[in-house]
Amino acid sequence: MGNSQAPEVSLGNTSAVRSVASKATVLQTVSFDSLGLDAQLLKAVHRLGYTSPTEVQAKCVPAILEGRDVIGSARTGSGKTAAFLLPIIQRLTKNRGRGTRVLVLSPTRELAVQTETMLKDLAGATGIRGKAVYGGVGMFLQQKALRQGVDMVMATPGRLLDHIRRGHVDFRDLQVLVLDEADRMLDMGFLPDVRQIISGLPKKRQTLLFSATIPREVEVLAREIMHDPLRVTAGVQDRPPDAIRHTVYPVRDYLKTGLLVELLRRGGIKSALVFTRTKWRADRLAQELFRAGYRVGLIHGGRTQSQREAALAGFRAGREPVLVATDVAARGLDIYGISHVVNFDVPPSGTDYIHRVGRTARVDAAGDAITLVAPHEEDDLRTVGRELGYTFLGESVPGFDYDAPPPPGRLQGPRDRSQQGWQGRSQSQAPRRESPRREGPRREGPRREEAGMPHRPRGRGGFRRKQRGAEARLRQRGRGGPGRFRGR
Ligand code: AMP
Repeated sequence: MGNSQAPEVSLGNTSAVRSVASKATVLQTVSFDSLGLDAQLLKAVHRLGYTSPTEVQAKCVPAILEGRDVIGSARTGSGKTAAFLLPIIQRLTKNRGRGTRVLVLSPTRELAVQTETMLKDLAGATGIRGKAVYGGVGMFLQQKALRQGVDMVMATPGRLLDHIRRGHVDFRDLQVLVLDEADRMLDMGFLPDVRQIISGLPKKRQTLLFSATIPREVEVLAREIMHDPLRVTAGVQDRPPDAIRHTVYPVRDYLKTGLLVELLRRGGIKSALVFTRTKWRADRLAQELFRAGYRVGLIHGGRTQSQREAALAGFRAGREPVLVATDVAARGLDIYGISHVVNFDVPPSGTDYIHRVGRTARVDAAGDAITLVAPHEEDDLRTVGRELGYTFLGESVPGFDYDAPPPPGRLQGPRDRSQQGWQGRSQSQAPRRESPRREGPRREGPRREEAGMPHRPRGRGGFRRKQRGAEARLRQRGRGGPGRFRGR
């Protein structure tokens, strides 16, 4: 074993960001009874085990019950879904009517499904029904629910526009519009679709907008479509939840998988959501972890809806304690009890960091965020730190061989490569650079997918075919092996 010191990487010279005293979002001093909710909703809330409202709930519920427009700046895990669902359900039960009266626009299918599930949990006894409408699955059942005028529709913009164009939707009775995770919809390029949908809605309605951050474009949209909105800010917006412990491990790119396996091997990681920057790196990491004997789920924009759902279900149930994902999974996922979020690759911005690590430490639980930083990513991490007001200080894992040579056939990270040249290969022979640009929101293909069309990665068909073959071989070999790569 070589020198077990981490490579010399200075990420700052002040103290590392460590566990900060937990500042619970649940307001012990406020009771649900004081928010003006009906007895059956209070019962539902208690059944879910909520003892007190979160800050965003305490601030939003009374205003929404009054019928006001609300802009809620609430970070992930703040309890914002119940903050708008509870008063909406109450208002719907008071004014029984026909037709779809509430539309919730969500950036991802996962978020739409979660909102539908929470509606079932909260509104079960009231008879208020909802339907999640999203791409990647058949249209028929959605069309049926829309035609029948289900009370609430939780939809991703692309698929909803498809239904609107085909005349499946009648929003004449719409009373409430919710834009959930509006900043994410902006990031994913959905704002034009959102505007188009809104242009067909009744002008007289209540509009609620929730967003972790309020970028300028979202602010402009809010001014156009909202009437005298109440602004509610819950918690500090531009920082991850306080209860998260952040650890950074500098490591060469080709050693990242080995280091992650080492961390998993040492125990203490009950469940890990692992983010890579590209689908390609997610695929490769999942295979490498599988080979190392771990049960792994895989979720990114190139997977089908059923593969994504199966991976999420396996992770939620604990069958696959490691879920490898790209940023498409970073928002909206509400998985209780993720002990660790691992940034296998440094996220491109502070906002992405917040959204990734926000998957752990939901409401007032504690969690760990681990970031593996290769030399070529140091600048990105500094940028993230600057945006969040953090100085990250690298740590090393004692006993890990930081000097191990790269495995045969495996290139090192871009900086290592530039130091050592292309190992005698010509440019055309050299494998493509793993550029972070490979997977921006457009590369994820969310719009095609949300519109119900399969994602078609461009220009890498040969690789994809090989990849599928490799996965099939792995699955076969996995039978009876130490773990199973489920190919999700
Ligand atoms: P959200 O921010 O809506 O994604 O909610 C995050 C998680 O917080 C979900 O698992 C909710 O079930 C949970 N939650 C919402 N409100 C409360 C509350 N008042 N007390 C405890 N947990 C809550």
